[in-house]
Amino acid sequence: MNCAVIHYHEIALKGQNRPFFVGRLVENIQAATADIPGVEAEKLWGRLLLKIGDEDCWPAVEERLKNVFGIANFSPAQRVGLDMDRMKELVAAEAVKHDFDSFRISARRAHKNYPLTSQQINAEIGAHVVKLTGKRVDLGNPELNIHLEIMPNEAFLYFRNIEGAGGLPVGVGGKLVSLLSGGIDSPVASCRMMRRGCRIVFVHYHSFPYLNKKSQEKAQEIALHLTRYQYQSILYLVPFGDIQKEVVVLAPAPLRVVIYRRLMLRIAVEIAKKQDARALVTGESLGQVASQTLENLSVIDQAVDIPVLRPLIGMDKDEISRQAMDIGTYETSIIPDQDCCQLFIPRKPATRSKLEEVLEAEGALDVPRLVEQGVTQAEERSYTFP
Ligand code: ATP
Ligand code: MG
Repeated sequence: MNCAVIHYHEIALKGQNRPFFVGRLVENIQAATADIPGVEAEKLWGRLLLKIGDEDCWPAVEERLKNVFGIANFSPAQRVGLDMDRMKELVAAEAVKHDFDSFRISARRAHKNYPLTSQQINAEIGAHVVKLTGKRVDLGNPELNIHLEIMPNEAFLYFRNIEGAGGLPVGVGGKLVSLLSGGIDSPVASCRMMRRGCRIVFVHYHSFPYLNKKSQEKAQEIALHLTRYQYQSILYLVPFGDIQKEVVVLAPAPLRVVIYRRLMLRIAVEIAKKQDARALVTGESLGQVASQTLENLSVIDQAVDIPVLRPLIGMDKDEISRQAMDIGTYETSIIPDQDCCQLFIPRKPATRSKLEEVLEAEGALDVPRLVEQGVTQAEERSYTFP
């Protein structure tokens, strides 16, 4: 197996976006395998061909391809010539390396110039395999499915079809700023938006030196981990403790949480402007905690005038946790930490805050200065993968 055939979701390819989408997918595959020598992706008749210099690299390549968004499925393959007699011999010779009792041939033509139809190819090669091996054809549920994709100048032979990550290639959907807490939810929210083609800039708010550095360390570890899905990441670490202190002194206790959140969003918007990002992302899910009622989310939203995307809004904690395990962030997220939201938290946070009350409370604060302070004190970290 000296190459791989990669299929992408046709559905996402309507109209003029196609070359852009495919070009980005090629770039991302190239980035994901940058440290594996001899790997080269190219466009080929509605699919991609991945050349693999050294067969021993396949397990590493497979691992990387599984995390590339935009891939529907992929297969380690062998390039074969188009001469029918040679093709028959080769298919049979490769097939007998597998352990099977029943099989089918699944030929597909990428273009219609080949003199035989797919059906005819299936019949002719199938008959040859039966003759040589004595195995039986089973079209419905074969033990071995022998795929042949016929291109203009060659064909690809493969036996396995590996499910890809789906979604859209990172980069086709623009940039977002994601509020990354170090908890379970926000890494999942970030990753779901990457899977919709967005590049994510991370922002984490911490209360060091009032609290320890654990949440920062977790956010850094998670940002580093998620970089495997987008190859380059930036994380802003925003000191939030002094800002919280001012809120505590000047605003009524029940409104603190909502005001913290509104300040977080405003700081994130300034970072979004610097980064040319068009919207924010949070890991909020409706009703999960006191600050996540419809009333509070509405008041929080009205602090900013760019969209706040909440991809987890309708999900249960169980579902979110399972996804966190799938993407590999769960273990880090459950490490106990001291999140800034635990600092100066009121005993009874308002579950139904009213915008007028919040605006009145914020009137006592110098909001622009607090936002400016957050932005200028932010530390920037960058990560690359691999
Ligand atoms: P998570 O599991 O993501 O921490 P949560 O269930 O703890 O979420 P909240 O504490 O209400 O819920 O936080 C809601 C969202 O606000 C988070 O998903 C995240 O997007 C953002 N957020 C909360 N705290 C921080 C923080 N310290 N830094 C950055 N974003 C934060
Ligand atoms: Mg949290």
